[in-house]
Amino acid sequence: MASILVTNDDGISSPGLWALAQALERVGEVVILAPDRNWSAAGHPKTMHKPLRIDSYRSLDGSGPGPAAFACSGAPSDCVALGLMGALDRQFDLVVSGINTSFNLGADVLYSGTVAGAMEAIISGVPAIAISVGSVEGKQVSDEAIYGRAAAVGATLAEMVLQKGLAEYTLLNVNLPRIPLNELGAAQITRLGRRIYRGLLTQRDDPWGKPYYWIGGEVPSGHPEMGSDIGAVESGCISITPLGIDLTRSDVIASLEAWDLASLAAAGDDS
Ligand code: MN
Repeated sequence: MASILVTNDDGISSPGLWALAQALERVGEVVILAPDRNWSAAGHPKTMHKPLRIDSYRSLDGSGPGPAAFACSGAPSDCVALGLMGALDRQFDLVVSGINTSFNLGADVLYSGTVAGAMEAIISGVPAIAISVGSVEGKQVSDEAIYGRAAAVGATLAEMVLQKGLAEYTLLNVNLPRIPLNELGAAQITRLGRRIYRGLLTQRDDPWGKPYYWIGGEVPSGHPEMGSDIGAVESGCISITPLGIDLTRSDVIASLEAWDLASLAAAGDDS
C-alpha cells in the first residue's frame, strides 16, 4: 500500500487538512506531519539556524482512530524535508499539501506555504499535489461541503498519480472555487495565470516614534485568461496546473546571448 505524507500551511488544527487526510486513507497509508501554527504566505523556508521539533498530535476531535498525526515547529517545507529524510522512520511515495483556505493561483505559488510543501517533495524526487479552495464573489458554500469535495478530488487525483506516475520533478497545483457543488464545472489542465495584487502599505509609529509597516491589502484579482488557472476557477471549474522547479525563461536565452557578454567578463579587469 502506498505511503502518503500530508501537510499544509494553515497549521495542524485546520479542518481542511483533516478532511484531506481522511479522504486519502482509502488510497494509502496516511501520516500527517504539519506545522504547529499558521505559515500561510511564508514561502519556502529551510530552517537551518535552530532545531526543529516534532510532537505526536491527537486526532482533531480527540477521538477514535484516524491518520497518525505529528505537529512540527517548522514550516511546511521543513515538515516535508523532515518526513522525506526519515524523521518518522518511513518512506513516502506521495506528498499531498492542503487543503488551503484560499486560492493559490498565478504568482501566489511563490508565496504559498501549501505549494512550498509540495515543491519540497519534488526537489527530493517524490511526486506531490497541492490543493486549495478559494472564494468566488456572490457564492457561498459551507466549509464542510467544499472541503469534502476538495478532499475527494485530492484522493482521486492521488490515486491517478500513484497509478500513472507523474513526469519527474512535477507537482499538481489544484484549485477549487467555493461554489455550490452542483455548479462545479469539469477539471481543466491549466497554466499559471497573471495575478493582480493591490498591495496596501500601512505605516504607523511605535511607542518610541519609530515607524513600522504592514504590507497587504485586498484579496488579489487576476486576468481570467482562457487556459489559465485564474480563468478556470473564475468559470467555476477545477484547475489543475502542473508545476516544476525550473524557473528559467528559456525563450529569453537567445536574446541575452546577443548582448556584449565579453565586456562583462572583462569588467573590473584593469590589467
Ligand atoms: Mn494557508
